[in-house]
Amino acid sequence: MTGHKKTGHEAVAHKDSSFLQSVDAMFNRAAALLDLPAGLTEQIRLCNSVYEVRFSVRLGQGWRLFRGWRATHSEHRLPVKGGIRYAPYANQQEVEALAALMSYKCAVVDVPFGGSKGALAIDPREYSREDLQLITQRFALELDKRDYLSPALNVPAPDIGTGAREMAWIAETYRTLHPDDIDASACVTGKPRQAGGIEGRVEATGRGVQYGLQEFFRHPEDVAAAGLEGGLRGKRVIVQGLGNVGFHAAKFLEEEDGAKIVAVIERDGALLNDEGLSIRAVKAHLEEHGGLQGFDSAEFQSDGNTALENDCDILIPAALEAQIHSGNAPRIRARMIAEAANGPVTYEADEILRAAGKFIIPDVYLNAGGVTVSYFEWTKNLSHLRFGRMERRMQAARWEGELAVLKKLLKDEVPEAIEKSMRRDQDELNLVRSGLEDTMREAYQHIRALWCERADVPDLRTAAFLLAISKIADYYLNFALR
Ligand code: NAD
Repeated sequence: MTGHKKTGHEAVAHKDSSFLQSVDAMFNRAAALLDLPAGLTEQIRLCNSVYEVRFSVRLGQGWRLFRGWRATHSEHRLPVKGGIRYAPYANQQEVEALAALMSYKCAVVDVPFGGSKGALAIDPREYSREDLQLITQRFALELDKRDYLSPALNVPAPDIGTGAREMAWIAETYRTLHPDDIDASACVTGKPRQAGGIEGRVEATGRGVQYGLQEFFRHPEDVAAAGLEGGLRGKRVIVQGLGNVGFHAAKFLEEEDGAKIVAVIERDGALLNDEGLSIRAVKAHLEEHGGLQGFDSAEFQSDGNTALENDCDILIPAALEAQIHSGNAPRIRARMIAEAANGPVTYEADEILRAAGKFIIPDVYLNAGGVTVSYFEWTKNLSHLRFGRMERRMQAARWEGELAVLKKLLKDEVPEAIEKSMRRDQDELNLVRSGLEDTMREAYQHIRALWCERADVPDLRTAAFLLAISKIADYYLNFALR
C-alpha cells in the first residue's frame, strides 16, 4: 500500500464539483425521483457527525503532530462501517464524501451497516514500520476514546495507504483497552487471517469488480447499450492504479476471464501493449522498482493519464477520485467505465459521458466487494467460528455418496465439470467467494431492474442511488425512533 500526491487537481483546474459536491449532486439527482417527506432527504444525505483529531507522537528524538478524521454518515444501521485512508492530501470533505458512499454502498448490496470513513493526513512512505505502528495505535486510541472504534458502533477497514497490518495494530489496541470485550476482534475488518481475518478479504474488492463485470456481460441488452458484444474474453481493458483493488481486478480479469489488459497506468506513467500485459509481471516490476518505467515487453509513456483516453472496451479507474473530469471526459474513448475506485468520475464528467453514450458501472455498486467480505469477517468474529468448520466434512461425505450413485447410474460418464463442482470444497475461501458472487450478482440485477423499469432513471448510477436512498428511507420511516 502506498501514499499519493494530491488528488483531483486537474478536476479543480476545470472547476468541477469537489468530491463531496459530486456525491451530493448524484444523490440529489436520484432523490428528486422519490417522494420523500421534507427533511428526511437531508437527514439521509448529510453526515451525522465528524470527529477531527490532532495528536502528537514521540518518534525518535522529536514529537510529530498528526491530524485525522472519522466521519459517521448514517447510523440507521449499526455498526457504521468504512475504511481508514493514509494519504497526505486527506481532508474532512473527502472523508465525508467517502462515508456517504459507504452508507449507499451498504444499502445497495444489502449489508446491514451504516456508512463511515476515516483518514490520517500522512504519507505512509515517509515512516518506518515501527513509527507507523506507533502512529496507528495512537490514532486507534483517539478513535476509541470517542466511540469511533467499537465492534457494536464503528468498525474500520483498509483503504488507500493501509492494509491488513494496520488493521491488526488497530485490533490489538482495542483489545488492550477492552480486555473484557469478548467480541474485540470484530472492532475492525481486513485483519490478517492469523489475527482474526477471513480468507478472501485482501482481494475482495477486486474480486467484486470481476463478479460485477461478469454479471454485466450476462445481460446482452446492457452489453449492447455499451456498444459491445460477447463476453469478457478478448475485451481490451485499461486499468489505472495497480494497488490492492486494481491489481486483483486486473489479475482476475486477465487470468480467469481472458480479458486483455492493454494498458496499466501508475503514478510514474503508463505501460501500453496491444497484445495484453501480464499483470503479475507488471506488479512484480512495480514492487521491485517503485514504478512502471523499465518494464520490458511494453511501451512506457511518462504522461500516464493521457492513456485514460486510449481506445479500449473497458476502462477501470482503480486509484483516486476525480480522475475523469470535464477536462478529459470528452476525450474518453472507452466504451464503458467500471468504477473500481471511489468517486473517479466527477459529476460534470458523469453528465458528459452519459451524453456521449458511455456505459458506467458505478462505484457505489462495483467496489462493494470489500465491505461485503468485511461483513462476513465481522459475523465470523462475532460467532468465534470459522466458516465451514462444522459442516465441511459432512458435506464432502454427502457429495461423495451422491457422486458414487450418479457414476453408477451413468456408467462412469459423469461430465468432468459436474464432478468438479460436486467436489468443490466447502472451505472458508469458497464460501466467501460464493457469498460475494451471490451478493454482486443480485445487487446488479436489482439496480438494472430499476434502470430498465423506470423511464426517468437515466443510468445505473442513478438507479443505484435510488435503490440505496429508498432502502435507507424505508428504515427511517418504519423503524427509527421518533
Ligand atoms: P492502494 O493504495 O492499494 O492502491 C492505489 C494505487 O493507485 C497505488 O498503486 C498507487 O501507486 C496508484 N496511484 C496513485 N496515484 C495515482 C495516479 N495519479 N495515477 C495512477 N495511479 C496512481 O489503494 P486501494 O485500496 O487499491 O484503493 C484504490 C481505490 O479503491 C480508492 O478509491 C479506494 O477508496 C477504493 N476502494 C478500496 C477498497 C479496499 O478494499 N481497499 C474498497 C473499496 C474501494
